[in-house]
Amino acid sequence: MEPKRGEDVAIQSIRGMHDLYGAEMGAWSAVEKVVHKTFQDFGYKEIRTPVLEKIEVFSQTVGEDTDIVQKQMYTIERSDEQLALRPEGTAAFVRAVIQHQLHRLPGAQRFYYYLPMYRYERPQKGRQRQFFQFGGELINDASPEADAEIITLLDQIYKALGLSHYEVRINTLGDSESRAAYRKALEEYFRPLLGELSEDSKARFERAPMRILDSKHEADQSAVQKAPRIGEYLTDFAKAHFESVKQRLNQAGVSFIVDPLIVRGLDYYSLTAFEFVSDQLGAQSALGGGGRYDGLAERFGEKPIPAVGFALGMERLMLALEASQKMPKVPAGPFLYLAPLGAAAFERFYPLSLELKRHGLGCELLYEKDKNLKWQLKQANRCGAQYALLLGEEEVAKGVAVLKNMSDGGQKEIGLDRIVEQLKQVHST
Ligand code: AMP
Repeated sequence: MEPKRGEDVAIQSIRGMHDLYGAEMGAWSAVEKVVHKTFQDFGYKEIRTPVLEKIEVFSQTVGEDTDIVQKQMYTIERSDEQLALRPEGTAAFVRAVIQHQLHRLPGAQRFYYYLPMYRYERPQKGRQRQFFQFGGELINDASPEADAEIITLLDQIYKALGLSHYEVRINTLGDSESRAAYRKALEEYFRPLLGELSEDSKARFERAPMRILDSKHEADQSAVQKAPRIGEYLTDFAKAHFESVKQRLNQAGVSFIVDPLIVRGLDYYSLTAFEFVSDQLGAQSALGGGGRYDGLAERFGEKPIPAVGFALGMERLMLALEASQKMPKVPAGPFLYLAPLGAAAFERFYPLSLELKRHGLGCELLYEKDKNLKWQLKQANRCGAQYALLLGEEEVAKGVAVLKNMSDGGQKEIGLDRIVEQLKQVHST
């Protein structure tokens, strides 16, 4: 009987949250491996924070009028505590840094995470309510080289996977002095236009007028396009920092464009901000992004901690890999399928299967002792094994087994004595 298709079944996972299994899961694991390795090559160490945090971890940091805090958090009330399922990684990371005093360790510290995030958004292609992010965070380093390193690392991750259809857009949000001057200029510019702006932008005007530049509303576009740009309001320090970041990116061979409308949706960024945008993803085109967030720690009542980081979405990365036909090739099944034909053969293969697994040679043996050749070969195909090892009564008597290459059908006899060594050789070629 064919298994029922997912949508015909009454019990379903929550909208916007998906199961991963089969070939898709295999492809995810292969991609995850490359991303983990790239982080480790750059000297980043993994950190895992809990899925639940006190709500303040996000409400105090991400920005009161951001979509995340206003409408997207999954919250839980439990014995007088308001908790939230993690909607993003950086605020929780900084909470952990402060709790464990990781910023007191000498010199720059590099961390990365790979965690599920939860946001109550309208699901569509590339946008889910549970999604996975890899994030890189570099703390205790205020240099432009640190910003350039973070952008180079994200670029390297995509390149290592063979992606090329994306654009690196960078901007500077200035230091606090530049921002104060720019904010004033934006207020003066937008105030007479308020009547024409979307409701969201009107709300942003009071608290964070710079965020209006991030608006996707049609009504705001003409005002946004003509708005003053931050360039004229930058202090010498902010200007020099941005120039050095660009120079280091050139040196690293990272192509980028400067986009003054990259302001990021979250409150805690300053100086460098960036986004990697794909032209293969439709509406949800942001592959990953980040920036400098030295001031985030202050929102927890601490002194500023120099920090820069990014987050990349796994679902969108997988969509982009598929669109560019760069999905990694993953073996569909184990190295070997053991096909005993009859009880005597099964008794030989049962201990062999244990030994092969001890030697790291992947194999599958079904505990059915009376199946014929046709049935066994069908199973070998089903499980996607590269080879099948066949053993019938005749072979047992001869002291051999037949090794069949499942992709080209070629087969040869191999002796049952020293069979593990011989299979190891086949495995390594
Ligand atoms: P953000 O934390 O909003 O800057 O997002 C960083 C990255 O996470 C984005 O560039 C996307 O790749 C991914 N991302 C954000 N929100 C979602 C979502 N709802 N579903 C899938 N991926 C997302």
